Amino acid sequence: MIVVMKPDASKADVKHMVERIEALGLKAHVIVGTERTVIAAVGDDRKTHKESLESGPGVSEVMPILAPYKVASLELKREPTTVTAGSLVVGGGTIGVIAGPCSVESEEQILTAAKAVKAAGATALRGGAFKPRTSPYSFQGLKEDGLKMLATARDATGLAVVTEVVASEDVDLVARYADVLQVGARNMQNYRLLEAVGSTDRPVLLKRGPSATIEELLLAAEYILNAGNPNVMLCERGIRTFESHTRFTLPLATVVYLHNKTHLPVVVDPSHGTGHTYLVPQMAAASVAAGADGLILEVHPDPENALSDGYQSLTPKQFADTMQLCRKVAVALDKKM
Ligand code: PEP
Ligand code: MN
Repeated sequence: MIVVMKPDASKADVKHMVERIEALGLKAHVIVGTERTVIAAVGDDRKTHKESLESGPGVSEVMPILAPYKVASLELKREPTTVTAGSLVVGGGTIGVIAGPCSVESEEQILTAAKAVKAAGATALRGGAFKPRTSPYSFQGLKEDGLKMLATARDATGLAVVTEVVASEDVDLVARYADVLQVGARNMQNYRLLEAVGSTDRPVLLKRGPSATIEELLLAAEYILNAGNPNVMLCERGIRTFESHTRFTLPLATVVYLHNKTHLPVVVDPSHGTGHTYLVPQMAAASVAAGADGLILEVHPDPENALSDGYQSLTPKQFADTMQLCRKVAVALDKKM
């Protein structure tokens, strides 16, 4: 349910209503908007407490939230959420650009990549230290050594670090080094991991599972929000279809659809979404045209010799050209990039 407070409701009224909601065995999420404060009362609300809550001090009305995802829904919060993590701003008219290699391979590699993407206008550095690989024989990442190299690259460039956490037991370790925790496509429905990242103060980039519906993506985000972390970015990274000319099929209608359902910002990953370097620049520009709040792009100083995903990585020069192309679209849409 949504408890909508009157515009002149006091802080004490809001506090009182939070206590009432909690006494009903529900969780309260307070959302302070520019015009009104609303409180989401979520949990097992088979019993409706509408009448009893409506009589509370400062309450204007109590409404059901129809969507299965509650805190993520536009019904609860109409103003788009902007997520900020150091140099990275995603949403509210600013397009965040997260760029870097698929995996951290060495200090030299990540520093070269970081400097190159920064020079071309990226606002955050990506790079996996813990890699979820399809084969157990593929490169699994440098783990904590890789995290340290990412931190060195942040110190050298000022770029916020976005990196993946693959298991709940690694969340504390990764959060010590990362500015944004990435939950990978394969882990979108790892609910213990979602709760663990939801209990940190680090923004989360949640990637869509290749076989997940958008509703499942939003319900996965709901786990993070419900654990108390409001800074969630949703990422469309392509889904599995019968089509085989691309690694995945990249549905850009997702961006528009999500903007009609949720206040959370939407990031697109055209690198994994296509799986081919030559498709990335135009699909990045198309993502911006569709209204994406951010892009995540794989960029490698030497794609041919990359330890993972080289075939979909841009060279620094290709990345700089992609930025120029995307900026033209962003400017046409009155967005900052
Ligand atoms: C990645 O970003 O390198 C990655 C593994 O992505 P995904 O989880 O979308 O496959
Ligand atoms: Mn990759």
